[in-house]
Amino acid sequence: MTGMTIGHSILIDQDRYNALPPGKQAAFIRHELAHVYQYELFGGIPFLTLYGGASLLAHLGGGDYYADNIFEKQADEHRNGSLPEPLTSWPEF
Ligand SMILES: [Zn+2]
Repeated sequence: MTGMTIGHSILIDQDRYNALPPGKQAAFIRHELAHVYQYELFGGIPFLTLYGGASLLAHLGGGDYYADNIFEKQADEHRNGSLPEPLTSWPEF
């Protein structure tokens, strides 16, 4: 894992981040910024609870806890696109 977001803080494994090509570094930051906005939309503890529930639902549906989590999918929409903007809606189920 290159990093993770907790509230407004993006925690980065510097060695892994520095090993990424520049385009992948920007993609990583865009992905993590989307998580910042998810925290803002739902609030800290509620978001963590929803995130955990989404991981459980993904697993129960036969998917991967991480890759198939709807919040990860929503954040991934920004990996190769523009910077995310503050979110105003739930991710698509
Ligand atoms: Zn993520």
